Amino acid sequence: MTAPAPIRAEARHVPEVRREKGQREVFCGLTGIVWLHRKMPDAFFLVVGSRTCAHLLQSAAGVMIFAEPRFATAIIEERDLAGMADLDAELDRVVGRLLARRPEIRTLFLVGSCPSEVIKLDLPRAARRLADGRPEVRILSYSGSGIETTFTEGEDACLAALVPTAPALPPGDAPELMIVGALPDIVEDQFARMFAELGLGRVRFFPGRSASSLPGIGPSTRFLLAQPFLGETARLLEDRGAVRLAAPFPFGAEGTTAWLHAAATAFGVDEMHFRQVIAPGRERAKRAIERHRALLGGKRIFFLPDSQLEVPLARFLATECGMAPVEVCTPYLHARNLAEELALLPEGTPITEGQDVDLQLDRVRAERPDLTVCGLGLANPLEAEGLATKWAIELVFTPIHGFEQAGDLAELFARPLRRRDLLRV
Ligand code: SF4
Repeated sequence: MTAPAPIRAEARHVPEVRREKGQREVFCGLTGIVWLHRKMPDAFFLVVGSRTCAHLLQSAAGVMIFAEPRFATAIIEERDLAGMADLDAELDRVVGRLLARRPEIRTLFLVGSCPSEVIKLDLPRAARRLADGRPEVRILSYSGSGIETTFTEGEDACLAALVPTAPALPPGDAPELMIVGALPDIVEDQFARMFAELGLGRVRFFPGRSASSLPGIGPSTRFLLAQPFLGETARLLEDRGAVRLAAPFPFGAEGTTAWLHAAATAFGVDEMHFRQVIAPGRERAKRAIERHRALLGGKRIFFLPDSQLEVPLARFLATECGMAPVEVCTPYLHARNLAEELALLPEGTPITEGQDVDLQLDRVRAERPDLTVCGLGLANPLEAEGLATKWAIELVFTPIHGFEQAGDLAELFARPLRRRDLLRV
């Protein structure tokens, strides 16, 4: 069986980007803990924060209530500046108690948050102090504060904290492929099998299933981003000599083909062999997407900024499902990492970086798209105005990468349209 030539993201056009700054309606970076703690079972996330942070984690990750949790909140109440020394001592006490009770913890992340008392705390210094004399556990810090991060940026900050602690891959070693970005285990396994069939022996995932066994990083590392929101992580990997393989993201039949093809090309995989290996998965993905095309085709979609997946998903919906993106807003646009995606969007698609929520809602109301992708807080008011919505957070919590998930990804957008049609009947 042969497959048509994989799509190539040639820079057909460089879209103009509107920048907006104003009130934002986006989750904070703490949300990333919900999927990161599942990915790295030997890591523990200690949020240094307020009761609000504790509530967010408990409600966002309610499923953890029946399991031994791998995250917690050290609640820092209102204090004056004179209390700072106490604050350090309190943090030391909480961490000491935690590590004594949970000796299996191999990596402990201190996660910063918004309260002014926490911002005054020097968490990286606290992490170094706490790590002293504890060689068995790696203690790192990053910020998940809503002032500094939107929700998928929490993953970027966490992985960026891990990069400097990964061992060095000596120059001259055989090139190694690294997939960067937390993927559900089932998707990781599918990609691992695909790379093995392509003949790529040395493939590592970052983060892998253990936070304590990190892949080596160096000039022999070739990395593919699996998520578009890892700008800082990518920069730090490049600082250590790793080479980013430019590609669209693995969403849909075409996106996945192009992403795999970037790796295959970098590792000299024979083109015919590549086509043979990917053909069955690609065909399955196309058939699964085809089932939703009749409903999705021609429908107008508006993305409000939320997950930073907006640009690749708009590309998937436009090029593979026939949808028409009205406007694509994203909290941050890592233009370099998204260059291949931007080039594949329909020419003239309006793109906005940042948020001024009232202005954006005005545009949604003026356009009245068939579907609006947005955060939880905006969905209800828009639904009340008769507009169909899709919660962006579902796109982060559902496996959507790769050939086998392509149909599910299209289904996620078809479902609210079907529901709206039923309500109309
Ligand atoms: Fe709220 Fe900030 Fe805590 Fe996030 S980090 S839950 S935005 S207080």
